Amino acid sequence: MGRSVLVTGGNRGIGLAIAKAFLAQGDKVAVTHRGSGAPEGMLGVKCDVTSSAEIDAAFAEVEAAHGPVEVLVANAGITDDTLLLRMSEEQFTRVLDANLVGAFRFAQRASKGMLRKKFGRIVFISSVVGLSGGAGQVNYAASKAGMVGMARSITAELGSRNITANVVAPGFITTDMTAELPDAVRDGVLKRIPAGRYGSVEDIAKAVTFLAADDSGYINGAVLPVDGGLGMGH
Ligand code: NDP
Repeated sequence: MGRSVLVTGGNRGIGLAIAKAFLAQGDKVAVTHRGSGAPEGMLGVKCDVTSSAEIDAAFAEVEAAHGPVEVLVANAGITDDTLLLRMSEEQFTRVLDANLVGAFRFAQRASKGMLRKKFGRIVFISSVVGLSGGAGQVNYAASKAGMVGMARSITAELGSRNITANVVAPGFITTDMTAELPDAVRDGVLKRIPAGRYGSVEDIAKAVTFLAADDSGYINGAVLPVDGGLGMGH
């Protein structure tokens, strides 16, 4: 342990739980935020994932404090739901830019140090919706499905250097993101979850630290659903 870990959007929600889990096991944890700062014990770097310049500055700060990033969790993400016929091109590209291109920017930047070190763990936080699709989520589902192809392509390129790239696909997790949904939608989803409950942020953190462990090096290009059975393994 004691590795240099970077979690995007690690200031709240799922990202914060992931960051806390790495901290608890003795890693050096940096999180990106957009002004809120970071909790005690973590290095907060101010960074919008849509800005390459801010990402470069964030990496410089993390590398100076913790050394090259050895574990990257691309977690930052947004939704902007509406039906296909109403969705503007701007709504589509904005979600893709934050969720998918943002994850690409971080993975590309982190991979340089990982290649030098011949060690790396990259985990993309996708979604059950990336594999099943969802009405009103053409932009979001496309961004999350894209992570699967991206992780597997990174695996094909860098797998021989002890660098893994995997995907965690959460189901319905209780955070600010899902709190915005109408009660009828929340209740409807609950009925379809075999586990009979919404997921917790800790459920996701557990899967991420597992995939990022030093001795998880033979799990590569995998998609791990953490959804109480909602996607039935896809
Ligand atoms: P929240 O809405 O609670 O948090 C979103 C996080 O992403 C915040 O830290 C936010 O930063 C950050 N973020 C968003 N856009 C940007 C940006 N442009 N630059 C930098 N940071 C940004 O979401 P969750 O914790 O629920 O979700 C985390 C991830 O998990 C997302 O990728 C989401 O798609 C995915 N997910 C969530 C599910 C759920 O049920 N909650 C289900 C499946 C997947 P800030 O605080 O500055 O806004």
